[in-house]
Amino acid sequence: MKTKAIYPGSFDPITFGHLDLLKRSCKLFDDITIAVVVNPHKKALFTVEERVAMIKKATKGYGNIKIDKFDGLLVDYAKKVKANVIIRGLRAIADFEYEFQMALVNRSLYKPLDMVYMMPSVEYTYLSSSIVREVAALGGDVSKFVPACIVESLKEKMKNVC
Ligand code: ADP
Repeated sequence: MKTKAIYPGSFDPITFGHLDLLKRSCKLFDDITIAVVVNPHKKALFTVEERVAMIKKATKGYGNIKIDKFDGLLVDYAKKVKANVIIRGLRAIADFEYEFQMALVNRSLYKPLDMVYMMPSVEYTYLSSSIVREVAALGGDVSKFVPACIVESLKEKMKNVC
């Protein structure tokens, strides 16, 4: 059976942690779609369209990666695009409990789906989009955490929201 993988998340914004996982995923899967979650209940810094455009820029040269957005249940989206693998990351220990629960719930909702978890390089273990947003909002240097094109997007956004 052909493997089609989805890497779902908020990506608000995409960071070197996400990109680290993506590079690892490219070695394992030929068909990867980054799927940006449209969640009306979660207030995001960037719009979904902005996040998709930023991911496009940040993943230039990563080979055959598609970028899409979805709302509703991840399993319904996976069924729709005929995906059978979900890629997720595990940072320090904080992600484990939530991801463990989601993996089992998703599997019980849609049996053919398997979750693949990856650990990033150690320097990205503590990196999250929320800490990047916080540092950027306070005027800190985020160039160690996100690619240069995202640094620029953050600067622009902070000018408009602050
Ligand atoms: P979500 O709101 O779904 O957690 P995120 O954009 O925060 O969306 O994360 C998407 C996925 O990428 C999650 O599986 C998350 O654990 C993973 N991820 C985010 N940052 C990192 C990182 N620094 N290292 C490894 N995985 C990460």
